[in-house]
Amino acid sequence: DDTENSFGTEESLKELAQLADTAGLMVVGSTYQKLATPNPRTYIGSGKVAEIKMAINALGAETVIFDDELSAGQLRNLEKAFGGDVRVCDRTALILDIFNQRAATHEASLQVALAQMEYQLPRLTKMWTHLERQAGGRVKGMGEKQIEVDKRILRTQIGDLKKELESVRKHRKQYRSRRVSVPVPVVSLVGYTNAGKSTLLNQLTGAKVLAEDRLFATLDPTTRRVQMKNGKEFLLTDTVGFIQKLPTTLVAAFRATLEEIAESSLLVHVVDISHPLAEQQIDAVDKVLAELDVSSIPKLTVWNKVDKASDPLKIKLEAQKREDTVCISALSGGGLDEFCNAVQEKLKHSMVWVEALIP
Ligand code: GDP
Repeated sequence: DDTENSFGTEESLKELAQLADTAGLMVVGSTYQKLATPNPRTYIGSGKVAEIKMAINALGAETVIFDDELSAGQLRNLEKAFGGDVRVCDRTALILDIFNQRAATHEASLQVALAQMEYQLPRLTKMWTHLERQAGGRVKGMGEKQIEVDKRILRTQIGDLKKELESVRKHRKQYRSRRVSVPVPVVSLVGYTNAGKSTLLNQLTGAKVLAEDRLFATLDPTTRRVQMKNGKEFLLTDTVGFIQKLPTTLVAAFRATLEEIAESSLLVHVVDISHPLAEQQIDAVDKVLAELDVSSIPKLTVWNKVDKASDPLKIKLEAQKREDTVCISALSGGGLDEFCNAVQEKLKHSMVWVEALIP
C-alpha cells in the first residue's frame, strides 16, 4: 500500500515494467492488490494468487516479479503456488540483475557481487527445505545443518569481498585506466530510466557501429562510437538509469556502477521533459552527481521527448533561456544536429579531442 501521491502504486509498477524491459524481459501483464497488511505466507491474498496463476497459464509467463521485497518463505510459497518452472523474484533481485549486467568497472562488479550475497544470505533456506521435502522428511535436520554451513561460507565470502573492495578503492586510479589509452573523448549519458538514453544512443550511432573494430573491441556493449559531420568522433556510453524506488540496500551498488562516469570528458543528462515529475527527477540526478565528485566535468542537459510534451513550443523557449540545455526528440531524431553541435562546442577544450582515426 503506497499512499504517496507523487509516486504511487501505478507509477511504481510502470517503473518496474521498465526495469524488466531493461533486463531483457518482455512484460505481458501487471496487477496489484491493496491490503491492510501483507499476507505473511504469500504477500498477496490467496484469491490474488489464484488469479495470477490463471494469468500465467493464459499468457505463458515464465517470471513473476513483485514490486516489494519478499521474504524467503514468501518466495518459496509463491513459487510452489504458481507451480511449474515459474520463477518468482522481487524488485531488488531484478535491479541486482541489471546492475550485474551493467557493472563496467572492477569496483562496480565487486560492489554488485557484495549486494547480491547480502541479498542471498537471509534467503538461503530455500534450496535445502526443498530437498528435505523431496526426501519425505527422512533427512530432517540435515537441511538445517547445511543451511548453517552455507551461511557461514557466504559470510566468509562477504567478508573477503569487503576486504577486496577496500583495497580496490585505495588503488582506484589503477583500475580507472579502462579507457585512458583510447584517444577519443568519452561522453556519458546519465538520467532516469526511460528518459530515452538508449534511444538517443541508437539514433546517433545507427548502423555505423563497427563490431569488429579492434581498437574498440574492449568496449562494453553500452558504449558506441559516434562520428560527427566534421569527421571528429567521440565514444558515447549509456549508464544504469536512476529509478524512483531504489531499495536502500542497493544504493552503494548503484553508485558504484555510476563511478565510471568520472572518466568522462562530458556528461549528458537526459531528461524526459514530458514526465510529470521531470523537475524532481532532475534534482535527484543533480544531487547524486554532486556527491559523485564529478563537478569538474562539463555537463549538457538534454530535454528529451519534446514531441510528447503538452506545450512543445513553451518547452523550447524555456530551454533557450537556460545555459547548456538543448531540446530533442530522440525517437524522431528532431534536434539531433543541435545536440551534436552542443556536444562539439563542449568538447572543444577537451584534452583528448583529436581528429578521427578512421577516415
Ligand atoms: P532509457 O531507459 O533511458 O534508455 O530509455 P529508452 O531509450 O529505452 O526509452 C524509453 C521509452 O521512451 C521507449 O519506449 C522510447 O521509445 C521512448 N522514447 C524515447 N525517446 C522518445 C522521444 O523523443 N519521444 C517519445 N515520444 N518517446 C520517446
